[in-house]
Amino acid sequence: MFRSYDDIKREYEYIRQADQLRYDEKKELIYSQNPELKKMDLAIIKSYLNIGTARIDKQPIDKLEKELDDLKKEREKYLKEHNINDDYKELKYVCDKCKDTGYVNGHKCSCFVQKEIELFDNISHFSKYIKDDNFENLDLSFYNQSGIVVGDKTYKEYMKEYVEEFKEMVANMDKKPFSLLLIGATGTGKTFIARCMGAMALKNNKSVLYVNVNEYLNSLKPDYEGEPLKYYAVNCDLFILDDLGTERITDYTNTEINYIIDKRLNDKKSTIITTNLVPDQIAEEYLGSTHSRLENAFYNCYLAGDDLRRLKNVSI
Ligand SMILES: [Zn+2]
Repeated sequence: MFRSYDDIKREYEYIRQADQLRYDEKKELIYSQNPELKKMDLAIIKSYLNIGTARIDKQPIDKLEKELDDLKKEREKYLKEHNINDDYKELKYVCDKCKDTGYVNGHKCSCFVQKEIELFDNISHFSKYIKDDNFENLDLSFYNQSGIVVGDKTYKEYMKEYVEEFKEMVANMDKKPFSLLLIGATGTGKTFIARCMGAMALKNNKSVLYVNVNEYLNSLKPDYEGEPLKYYAVNCDLFILDDLGTERITDYTNTEINYIIDKRLNDKKSTIITTNLVPDQIAEEYLGSTHSRLENAFYNCYLAGDDLRRLKNVSI
């Protein structure tokens, strides 16, 4: 069970050790059954070394190259006659894409993301929600009940369009990372929407960290058992911070919230924040930069409730 990035790092070390062990064992077995082959392989290595030395000494290498060629042919003949596959000399990986390093060209390999998904789930237990909270279970008639009209649309039509947009955001998050602020009072379904998006991202093999703002801030305290969630919030593909505004707001919490919002925006990573605060309250409660990021860099979506009525000039 992964509890930290160090656990994943260790797992890759084990995998690579096992790769090496398998390779050594297979080679040893083949050599023990075919001592001639071992001699040939050693002769070939020696021949390469001789050519290298001759090159450095500026000596003729034609004869040596011919020798090497003969050795290779002799070996090939032997392999064929004894029905031995040449790949015993190749290291076999569990994941060919990243050669069991976890990274391809500096980017996380899909096998690493799988481990990361497991790690984040051990930390935030997000998977327990996705059985119920997913777009397949979203019943748009829920949005009918309020009887709210937004402009010339019923609230259901208004939400239907939003839901399509939300799905697109998640589907395209690789190419186009998104930052979404879901604003709405308790009971308007903002957490449900955030979880639906998280469930979809998870289905698309993205690592998702879902945390409540209080849980997040508590993890930064020195007496917290385990690693601060900040570390994972920086690294996950999709970070969901639930219930912003329910924490006790201080300069310290302000700075921490500002840090993670800024960091994710700068790193071009997707983030969803849900809040029951209306923008006026956000402006009042949070430092200037957090407020302006949430207002300008985040896509603001209002979910029905008194807030929506006030903000969007809607009629009932
Ligand atoms: Zn891999």
